[in-house]
Amino acid sequence: MMDREFWLQRKLEAIDRALDRLSPLEADCTLCPRHCHVDRTRGETGVCQTGSQARVSVGLLHFGEEPVLSGRGRPAGARGSGTIFFTGCNLKCLFCQNFQLSWLNEGELRTDEQLAELMLQLQQRGALNINFVSPTHVILPILRALKIAYRRGLSIPLVYNSNGYDSLEVVEQLRGIVDIYLPDLKYVSSELSRRYSSAPDYFEQARLALQEMYCQQPDLVIDEREIARQGLIIRHLVLPGSADDSIRVLEWIAENLSTGVGLSLMSQYHPCYKAPAEIQREITREEYHRVMQRALDLGFEHLFLQPEPFQQDEHLVPDFRRKDPFRWKN
Ligand code: SF4
Repeated sequence: MMDREFWLQRKLEAIDRALDRLSPLEADCTLCPRHCHVDRTRGETGVCQTGSQARVSVGLLHFGEEPVLSGRGRPAGARGSGTIFFTGCNLKCLFCQNFQLSWLNEGELRTDEQLAELMLQLQQRGALNINFVSPTHVILPILRALKIAYRRGLSIPLVYNSNGYDSLEVVEQLRGIVDIYLPDLKYVSSELSRRYSSAPDYFEQARLALQEMYCQQPDLVIDEREIARQGLIIRHLVLPGSADDSIRVLEWIAENLSTGVGLSLMSQYHPCYKAPAEIQREITREEYHRVMQRALDLGFEHLFLQPEPFQQDEHLVPDFRRKDPFRWKN
């Protein structure tokens, strides 16, 4: 067992290094592949609509993440993933189910001190990890808050839960800080990523970021309670009419990373916000089965599946205007 002081020292050094390297990028912002070149230190905002401070919608114990993150049983028996939902987003998919946060930016500004306090409260309530949802554009406040939280006793694993549109330069600086990478890999097709996310370079950027994440955390380490301690879990949401691209995503992971990474195959797509006409429907059972079968044929060892599309509970689309967005009693 690593001595806490030694462990803490190493964490703080890694954070200081990352802050030294990344803080200058904020004044001419290139913190993500959008490269907006706005001065966020002076209140200017780019695609993510975010200045220097993080805006948070809610921090809660989440019982609906993959079982290795949330624990089993819902909610009794699970301690939950200590999930912090940031508002604003650097990708902004037209169909985003969290559009209240990503597009409408509904949340409260939090100081670094308040963000640290939120992490500590979640740990105190029994969270198995701290799960940062949409961390890409708020990586600097997260790092600053982590310095405070670690000094005050934060000790549970950190989950970097991003849309995958991360810059390689930033991910490189997260070595020694992030325990579990939980990125999406949404598309291979630049046509789809342009149409749905205005990001024709999505795959080109995401593949570099995911390769770096895999270098840092190649093995999914699961403890005796079946809870992830470190590793890489890639999420893929199957979209209506895009099963061929979903299969290309799986094949790329198998060929370029490993079938030993976690793969979370999501069937929960529901048309939200500005979803174009051709994706104004749920996915079909056949679409999901085709993609699932390819994942099985490729031999993914840690495959997380969702219920059949037609069996889904309505809580999979959260409403962040409610006190309990997922309708769990936290
Ligand atoms: S983090 Fe925000 S402002 Fe900076 S490049 Fe990305 S979208 Fe633009």
